Amino acid sequence: MEVSLKNQIAVITGASSGIGAGIAKSMAEAGATVVVNYPFDGALDQANSVLQEITQKGGKGIVYQCDVSKEDEVIKMFHEVVEQLGTVDILVNNAGIQKDAKFTEMTLDQWNAVIGVNLTGQFLCAREAIKEFLRRGIDLSRSAACGKIIHISSVHEIIPWAGHANYASSKGAIRMLMQTLAQEYGGDKIRVNSICPGAIQTPINTNAWSNTEAMNSLLTLIPYNRIGQPQDIGNLAVFLASDLADYITGTSIFIDGAMTTFESFSTGG
Ligand code: NAD
Repeated sequence: MEVSLKNQIAVITGASSGIGAGIAKSMAEAGATVVVNYPFDGALDQANSVLQEITQKGGKGIVYQCDVSKEDEVIKMFHEVVEQLGTVDILVNNAGIQKDAKFTEMTLDQWNAVIGVNLTGQFLCAREAIKEFLRRGIDLSRSAACGKIIHISSVHEIIPWAGHANYASSKGAIRMLMQTLAQEYGGDKIRVNSICPGAIQTPINTNAWSNTEAMNSLLTLIPYNRIGQPQDIGNLAVFLASDLADYITGTSIFIDGAMTTFESFSTGG
C-alpha cells in the first residue's frame, strides 16, 4: 500500500511557517509539486527556506505571494499556478491568524481581519480551486477524485473560546463551508474535509509553550500529554489527500491528543 501524491499539484496557503510548512514538506515528500504560499514580502525568506528544504530532499515546488483575504490576488494566484504548473489537484486552506480581545473590547478591525483571512480566505481559495477541478475533470493518472480540499480548522470548531470570539466563530463557520462544499460537489467527485488540530507547536501560540509553566498548564488540557508538531498534521493531510482516503468527504477530523475528550472531566467532572 503506497500513500502517494505523485503527479499532483498542491497549493498550501500560509505555508512559510508552522502547520502549513509542515504540510508542504510532507506533501512534497509524498510526491506532490507544492505551491508554498506566503502573504507579505516579509515572509519571503521563510517561504524560500521551506522550499529549499523540500528541494534538498528531491521534492518540487514554487513559492507564491498572495494575501488570501484579497479576491484579486487569489484569482491571480490560481490563474498563474495553472499557467505555470498545468492544474491544481489539492488545496490546503491553512492560512490563519488570531487577533485576541475580550469581547466587549474587540474592535471591528480585529473581527474583520480574522474573518477575512480565516473564513473569507478559505472561501476565495476553495472557489478558485473548484473551478479549476471542474475545468480539468477527473484524470485517473493523477487521482480517483476530481480534486481535494482540506480546510485547516481547529478544536475551536467545537470548543468555545473566551477572549477569541472572532477566531472561534471563523472556525465554527469553516465546518459549514466544508460540509456544504462536500455536499454540493460530491457528485463531481470533489472531496472536501477539515483537519481540526489541538495544540500544535507553532508561532501562532508561542505564549502557550515557550516557558515551562505555560507548557505544563497546556499539558493539563491534553490527555496524550504532549504538544502536537506540524509533522503530525502533515501526516494526516497526506493521507486525506491520497486515494487511500477516497471515501472520506464531508467530515472534520480532530487531531488533538484527545483534547476534545475534555480532560477536566477525567476525575468525575
Ligand atoms: P502560523 O502563524 O505559523 O501560520 C499561519 C500562516 O498563515 C503564516 O505562515 C502566515 O504567514 C500565514 N498568513 C497569515 N495571513 C495570511 C494571508 N492573509 N494570506 C496568506 N497567508 C497568511 O500558525 P499555525 O499554527 O501554523 O497556523 C496554521 C493554521 O492552523 C491556522 O489556520 C490556525 O488557525 C490553525 N490551527 C493552529 C493550531 C495550533 O495550535 N498551532 C491549532 C488549531 C488550528
